[in-house]
Amino acid sequence: MPSTIVWFRHDLRIDDHPALRSAAERGAVVALFILDDAAEGEWPAGGAARWWLHHSLVALRARLSALGAKLLVRRGAAAGILAEVASASGADRVVASARHEPAAISHERLVAAALARRGVECAFMPGALLHEPAEIRSGSGTPFKVFTPFWKACLARGFDTVPLRPPERLEDGSRGLKEGSIDELGLLPSIPWAAEFPKRWQPGEEGAKARWTRFAAAAITSYAGDRNLCGAEGTSGLSPHLHFGEISPRRLWHEVAKVEHRLRPGDSRGSAGDGVKAALESLRVFRAEMGWREFAHHVLIHQPKTPTQPLRPEFASFPWRRDAVLLRAWQKGLTGYPLVDAGMRQLWRTGWMHNRVRMVVASFLVKHLLQPWLDGARWFWDTLVDADLANNTLGWQWTAGCGADAAPYFRIFNPVSQGERFDADGAYVREFVPELARLPAEWIHQPWEAQPAVLRAAGVEIGRTYPAPIVEHASARAKALDALAAVSPLKEKSG
Ligand code: FAD
Repeated sequence: MPSTIVWFRHDLRIDDHPALRSAAERGAVVALFILDDAAEGEWPAGGAARWWLHHSLVALRARLSALGAKLLVRRGAAAGILAEVASASGADRVVASARHEPAAISHERLVAAALARRGVECAFMPGALLHEPAEIRSGSGTPFKVFTPFWKACLARGFDTVPLRPPERLEDGSRGLKEGSIDELGLLPSIPWAAEFPKRWQPGEEGAKARWTRFAAAAITSYAGDRNLCGAEGTSGLSPHLHFGEISPRRLWHEVAKVEHRLRPGDSRGSAGDGVKAALESLRVFRAEMGWREFAHHVLIHQPKTPTQPLRPEFASFPWRRDAVLLRAWQKGLTGYPLVDAGMRQLWRTGWMHNRVRMVVASFLVKHLLQPWLDGARWFWDTLVDADLANNTLGWQWTAGCGADAAPYFRIFNPVSQGERFDADGAYVREFVPELARLPAEWIHQPWEAQPAVLRAAGVEIGRTYPAPIVEHASARAKALDALAAVSPLKEKSG
């Protein structure tokens, strides 16, 4: 019976997995995961993502074992390990889901060539995205740099919406090869900073399914409005599951279509009322967010230098004022701006941050503090469980104003008014900045403005129990706009 190695990477699932399905239909399956940090170039997984990966591998091993297959885990150079496992198991083919990060793409070429020399063929299959990013082109055949036309082109192309069912059983082809210990990969942090992660997250396919079920039942139909509320569970929380491929985007698209089907008028419910229209709009907005994930990968494959270099070249000469003290205050959530501090502490405690707050904290670092966006991107990389090279790069360059379809540099988020708008009752700040918990909502986003009696009653002493603002908003804004003037092509536009 022919035997195929399924090389698992960012596709830690068995549902809707074209590579696994093709291997199972062909014959025996050797399931293999390799931790190969050197192959990730400058971006080996950060601390929080490693925590996730550990638990996701444990979950995948259990899923595969229930189907009759072992999950082999190894650490080292993938090309050599794949060749060894192929020779020991008699597998003559390797299949994997294609990845889209620049280092992963070069590595795939290298691995395929090395295996070909040993007579082992190698195939990289779709599954990580709704469309292969290179296939989406503008009318003139060039890649897109702006989201809306990109997404229109995807919508016009249509979607393959039928997910593949997981195999019912697998023929294990590992021929007595040792499984390898997941613990020995050393993915878990040596200091106990991830203690709260398990309360919030369940890595693995079952966790992804549970997360989707909860979101579908409680929040998807009000997503358009609630997704911006920092303290509400108004978004799916699926980002780490999508990053590690524990749920495929095609499965997600299919499940969203099922929700839509239930809502659509024309069945026994009659014509759509306002509630249904609003719910359908929420589904549209949610799908568009999935579209941003597609767009981020499209930009990354066509602009492979963007993880470290601004897409807009004029920003290469931006006069950043690198300052380790300011960076540290931001990282620790001690800037004196409650929304920024709540976000940074949510990130540290839970490995995740609300999208609205990601924009606010990123803007604050880059524009109020004039720190290089790459320093922020690297911190996110290490602390986010959903750290994803495409999405993180796009998010940072978008906020800094130097990327694809970016917010103009002169649009500077005001952390006070953002807080008042999107955390009006202060619940989010209270949760993550407990030293401000007893302040009335009126002052919670600008405690330095409160009367001394109000502060005293809430047990807050500015500069002692909670920092004074590290910079003053209006003067920081003016400095940021001055710095912008140094980036000459934008000078005229900022007026
Ligand atoms: P939902 O609102 O439920 O959205 C569903 C899915 O759509 C998400 O899981 C995600 O896969 C995708 N998505 C949503 N918004 C975006 C977006 N703006 N760009 C790309 N994809 C999106 N997302 C990451 O997955 N990894 C990152 O490393 C990352 N870094 C970011 C850095 C900055 C500075 C900013 C502003 C955004 C970043 N994002 C990143 C995008 C976004 O903040 C997260 O995807 C989102 O908050 C995840 O929460 P959710 O799953 O509840 O999202």
